[in-house]
This record gives sequence, C-alpha cells and structure tokens, in this order.
Amino acid sequence: MPKITINKDKCKGCLLCVSVCPQRLIVVEDELNLRGIKPVKFKPGGKCVGCAMCAVICPDCCIEVYK
Ligand code: SF4
Ligand code: SF4
Repeated sequence: MPKITINKDKCKGCLLCVSVCPQRLIVVEDELNLRGIKPVKFKPGGKCVGCAMCAVICPDCCIEVYK
C-alpha cells in the first residue's frame, strides 16, 4: 500500500494538502512543531492511494510519497 511521510517541523500549517487529499487522510496534529504551529499528520489507519496530490501541492516540499 502507498504511504507518505511528512516533515512536521518544516510544515507551516497552510492546510493545502488537507484540502486536496481525495481520501481525507491528512489531518491537523495536536502538538506544536518547532515553528510553533500545528502541523499536519497522516490519519492513523488511513488507506493512501498514492495519488501524490498532497506532495505536489505542498509549497514547502514537506511530503514524500512512497508507492
Ligand atoms: S498521496 Fe493522495 S491519497 Fe495519499 S495522502 Fe496524499 S493526497 Fe491523500
Ligand atoms: S501543504 Fe505542506 S506546509 Fe501546507 S500544511 Fe501540508 S505539509 Fe504543511
């Protein structure tokens, strides 16, 4: 199954990735990152389809997709 990694400390919380995931698998984290904002995380147990929309839209290249 495809999966993604998110560099949480690089994330600026713009939520673009949240808005484009067709499976709604990216959600806001509860804890602050090193930048003092709440980053996003992959929803536990979510079934990623590997479309890479999240990685393509992230302006700071925080997301990598593995197929
Ligand atoms: S690769 Fe596609 S399905 Fe997987 S988390 Fe990113 S946008 Fe969602
Ligand atoms: S698009 Fe990138 S910077 Fe914006 S919330 Fe998602 S991972 Fe963070």
